Amino acid sequence: MPEGLVIKAYGGFCFVWMEGKVEKCTLRGKLRTRGRVLAGDEVVVRSLSGGRGVVEEVKPRRSEMVRPPVANADQALVVVSFREPSPALNLLDRILVHCEAAGIRIVICVNKLDLAAPGAENEAWIETYRDAGYPTLVTSAVTGEGVAALREALARRITVVAGPSGSGKSSLINAVQPGLNLRTGEISPKLQRGRHVTRHVELLALEGGGWVADAPGFSVLRLEGIDRAELAGLFPEFGRHTDGCRFADCVHYREPDCAVRRAVAGGAVARFRYAHYLGFLREILAREGKNKL
Ligand code: GDP
Ligand code: ZN
Repeated sequence: MPEGLVIKAYGGFCFVWMEGKVEKCTLRGKLRTRGRVLAGDEVVVRSLSGGRGVVEEVKPRRSEMVRPPVANADQALVVVSFREPSPALNLLDRILVHCEAAGIRIVICVNKLDLAAPGAENEAWIETYRDAGYPTLVTSAVTGEGVAALREALARRITVVAGPSGSGKSSLINAVQPGLNLRTGEISPKLQRGRHVTRHVELLALEGGGWVADAPGFSVLRLEGIDRAELAGLFPEFGRHTDGCRFADCVHYREPDCAVRRAVAGGAVARFRYAHYLGFLREILAREGKNKL
């Protein structure tokens, strides 16, 4: 039986891309439970007449994101801008932690270079992310600078696009491939309430191979499912120091002999990253009902 890639799934149907053609499929009984078939899933299809088919089987997933619901995402592209709006690094770190927890690769893109001061592409905060190990591109959807590098970063992968509203996600994807239009993954919990948006994820095909997930549900990021012991490990540059802490269960707040705090004091870990870490830790402890900080 032929195999294909689910590019959209909702309401008991899914659209499966098979050798360049899209087939609208129903789901075999046991797959009808919500979440069993997601955009990004590789599936086995039994073809019926008239371009229809039935999804018989879902292949094991390489990765799985709950918000937005996407299977097999290879990476997240997190777009922020130099100006208008200026970069909200707390929000950026929240998105990074969310994607780290989902186990997917991250590419950061700092957009609107045309609005930035000369030399902005090497500002200290950008170097912080590069040093942490994140590939970080600088782009301008207006001048086209960095767009070729972005196109290359997206090629042959399934990419989820995230970042604050107005940072230029739609413009960038359109610069990478004219005609590819995102509904955009807005991060705006306030606007979300009471608004009826189409929540299903759709994979958009890139010409050179690869897919961009248009995922309007990338919105409420409450650090769900992340526990205190896990959090520091989601900041890659902290992980290089945690072995040096005296206590194995150190949360890097007030414990004596904490190697992470030493690294902050010594400049090896950026203060703003540590401050965001503490903010997230407080949130997690409050949720766990152990508000000790
Ligand atoms: P999204 O909400 O993240 O999808 O952002 P949009 O792509 O809708 O862009 C928001 C606004 O920023 C629009 O007015 C765009 O024209 C503008 N914009 C996007 N990218 C750039 C850029 O690189 N430079 C400048 N100057 N403006 C940009
Ligand atoms: Zn510590």
